[in-house]
Amino acid sequence: MDLSPVVPLKSVSRWDIEADVVVVGAGGCGVTAALAAGERGASVLLIDRDHRPVANTARSGGMIPAAGTRLQRAAGIEETPEHFAENILAKNHGQSDPEQTLHLARTATTLVDWLIDRHHLRLELATDFLYPAHTEYRMHCPPERTGAALLADLKRAAREVPTIQYVPDVLAENLIADEQGAVVGVVVNSGARELVRARNVILACNGFGGNREMVREFCPEAATALYFGGPGSTGEGIRWGMALGAAVEFMDSYQLHATIAQPGEILVSYSITMEGGFHVNAQGERFADETRGYSEHALDVLAQPGGTAVVVYDERIHRLGLTFPDYVACVEARLVRQAPTIEELGAAFRIDGAALARTLEEYRVARTAGVDRFGRRTFADLRPPFYGIRVTGALLHTQGGLVVDRHARVLRTDGTPIPNLYAGGGVAAGISGHGAGGYLSGNGLLTALGYGFLAGRHAAASLGLPG
Ligand SMILES: Cc1cc2nc3c(=O)[nH]c(=O)nc-3n(C[C@H](O)[C@H](O)[C@H](O)COP(=O)(O)OP(=O)(O)OC[C@H]3O[C@@H](n4cnc5c(N)ncnc54)[C@H](O)[C@@H]3O)c2cc1C
Repeated sequence: MDLSPVVPLKSVSRWDIEADVVVVGAGGCGVTAALAAGERGASVLLIDRDHRPVANTARSGGMIPAAGTRLQRAAGIEETPEHFAENILAKNHGQSDPEQTLHLARTATTLVDWLIDRHHLRLELATDFLYPAHTEYRMHCPPERTGAALLADLKRAAREVPTIQYVPDVLAENLIADEQGAVVGVVVNSGARELVRARNVILACNGFGGNREMVREFCPEAATALYFGGPGSTGEGIRWGMALGAAVEFMDSYQLHATIAQPGEILVSYSITMEGGFHVNAQGERFADETRGYSEHALDVLAQPGGTAVVVYDERIHRLGLTFPDYVACVEARLVRQAPTIEELGAAFRIDGAALARTLEEYRVARTAGVDRFGRRTFADLRPPFYGIRVTGALLHTQGGLVVDRHARVLRTDGTPIPNLYAGGGVAAGISGHGAGGYLSGNGLLTALGYGFLAGRHAAASLGLPG
């Protein structure tokens, strides 16, 4: 991997712009960081290489996990961040640092209440289905249930903070550091190259899912999968940090998704599967427990002939799906097939009807007996008419990156912070352990918005601004 050397301060003869805090990347992490620093009076320059809503945050389901929020309590759910952290650690088999994981879980509580109370985000608690390996309803999302709506709301809030200047179509090309390795600025390019002097820099430019070379180097099992994340996730934030001596962790960590409609490439909500849908291959056979996690299950889907599977479900589940805009898009694109019998559904996907009927019968027996040969525990009483959609597995984002402390400050390999440098979201080492299987739904936005919040607050406090 090529590490772009950081620009030395001594080669800088002029500054074009100055800001207390420069935030690189205006996705969930960046806009949250800008809000947290800007509301305390820091002058914030928030830049993004793109003006289109193509950040991973905009492509996401907009589901922010948090425990102990006011919305949870209003729904009669008493949950502590400790319990939420236990879920994260159970999914990643204890691979993430327990203290930092709990710190993020606690931060999420404050974050969600702050987003609603202080910045008037329209968040709701999703209580109609549980994501894989979550033991409680804790996903907070906009009513539209899209990351695009979430990011639009965050940007609306940022526009209301006068000290935040948001400038799209500006590429950060490099960091500028002094002889001690303290970060003092950013080289940016919006057609002309300019040097921005910054008292703090927050790297919020996501991971390296869109950089095939880095994916091949660090996550080789995901290298041939379709990439379904934003095009701007090319890993430079991680490379700049490494060039300054930052430690990295979990570089082999990534999230796949098992149900990307094929063709069409639209994300099919996993509620379809969690509420009872099962997956079959071209032979009409199930091949794994579909409910253990959509990230690890995607590897099983990709291992099937043609790298695809068909999700089989019924009318009740179809109706639930219609509450998700992406699923509606699948219906409108005629990717969802409906048939009065299971045999006819098989025919719609060129699957032997008798084989599919046998699989449905096995599924029903497993449901009644409570014993499934793949270990699945939740089933539904699937009734005609039946529905199906063809899906494949895809890479959504990477979860490894720069090691940060509880304030999201980037740490060197000796554990000391690199002065003035923060990171969050896909640039920072995540809490999903190694590989594909440790990702608990929501870890992405938790580390994006959570670290963004911590970074913004600490960056403002480091300037002596009131807390
Ligand atoms: C389809 C999909 C669904 C998902 N659903 C969920 C979900 O429901 N819940 C959840 O928790 N997670 C979800 N995730 C994961 C989640 O979206 C990400 O983990 C999270 O959005 C990362 O946020 P971020 O701010 O770090 O990055 P992003 O949102 O990608 O923002 C990074 C920004 O940085 C900009 N940028 C990059 N490089 C530069 C540069 N050099 N100069 C200037 N700007 C730059 C990019 O253009 C981009 O706008 C999903 C991901 C995908 C792809």
